[in-house]
Amino acid sequence: METSRTTSRERQTAPDIQRPWEIPAADGTPLYVHVPFCEAKCPYCDFFSVAGEGQDIEGSLEALISEVERRGPRSPRTVFVGGGTPSWLSIDQLERLFGAMQSRTGYRDSAQEVTVECNPESLDEEKARALVELGATRLSIGFQSLRPETLELFGRVHGVDDSFAAFQAARAAGVAAVSVDLIFGAEGQTVGEWREDLTRVLDLKPEHLSCYGLTFEEGTLFTRWLEEGRIERIPEEEELELFRATRELTSTRGYHAYEVSNFCLSGHECHHNLNYWRNGPYVGIGPGAASYVSGTRFGNPRSLEAWRRGAKGGEASLPWSETLNPSHRLAETWWLGLRLAEGLDASAAREHCGVSASEDLCLPEARQLAEEGLLVERGGRWRLTGEGLELADAVSGRLLATGLA
Ligand code: SF4
Repeated sequence: METSRTTSRERQTAPDIQRPWEIPAADGTPLYVHVPFCEAKCPYCDFFSVAGEGQDIEGSLEALISEVERRGPRSPRTVFVGGGTPSWLSIDQLERLFGAMQSRTGYRDSAQEVTVECNPESLDEEKARALVELGATRLSIGFQSLRPETLELFGRVHGVDDSFAAFQAARAAGVAAVSVDLIFGAEGQTVGEWREDLTRVLDLKPEHLSCYGLTFEEGTLFTRWLEEGRIERIPEEEELELFRATRELTSTRGYHAYEVSNFCLSGHECHHNLNYWRNGPYVGIGPGAASYVSGTRFGNPRSLEAWRRGAKGGEASLPWSETLNPSHRLAETWWLGLRLAEGLDASAAREHCGVSASEDLCLPEARQLAEEGLLVERGGRWRLTGEGLELADAVSGRLLATGLA
């Protein structure tokens, strides 16, 4: 599930660069590969993914391989194979995909981290071993909830025991680091239940943990159900309590909250995602995947057929692209960087973007936010305060809006 948020700004539907996929990526650029298939589509999910049954899987695999062969960056520093559910592919299919990635990019000699997203129903020890053989250093497993009724509401096809079995399979296969994904904030969830569930997961000692609040994204079934009154959103104050419990429990167990919703044991930050939050470049392969190369962002079509045509060398359609001017690039660097515990080195970011302090539109807003007790600046680094952390989206949204004005 790619972290490919770009800006809240409307993207240009008429591309300002006609063939951005031909812009060469520098050696070392991180690589994201999007496998769009899942066992079933979850009603809250807005990633580009479809239930695999009845789809032309072989045709899509060939298209992924062609796109890797055409656009894969040489010697990527990190690789992230997400989706969708990459573990839904068979071992043979995974071997063909990773084989093509290796031939084109040589990632096995260059990548410090190779992550593969997995779901419990499609990860057993044999597949985990195969992924390790292919160079995977991290498996990220989508537990999402430890409550059968919530898994059902979320449309998940696995049970609670399957999640624990998948985790143990990853351990038995010798995966270097395992990450667990959880979602809090489902209707009816109490803080007590969440603390219990999170404690059970922390008892497994995963190297990394992502805990996101449930969101209602445009176009999802969940949003429709919400509008129809079939489900309810929990009150903001309750969501805040769940967030606070997450920070407190993870910290008690020695996890570092290196990003608003991401926690790790020492040295186990996800380097691929750190690059997104530091506003670094990346190449995205697969339907709906975003890329950011030489200051231009663009997305692949969110349609299997349109994407396959382009990926296999036919006429490609480009749903959106944007070339950021230096001020906008800086505004996005503020927006993303403040999510990190390390914060943002504003003068280094300005230098990188080629913007002077007097031209930095976010700086006066950051000072204002500091006066409001939401940001703090120390040694040139800007960070969210405890209060700011609880309003992280609003704070970074204000900076982005000012910076893009
Ligand atoms: S398994 Fe993951 S990617 Fe697939 S539909 Fe569910 S949330 Fe989305």
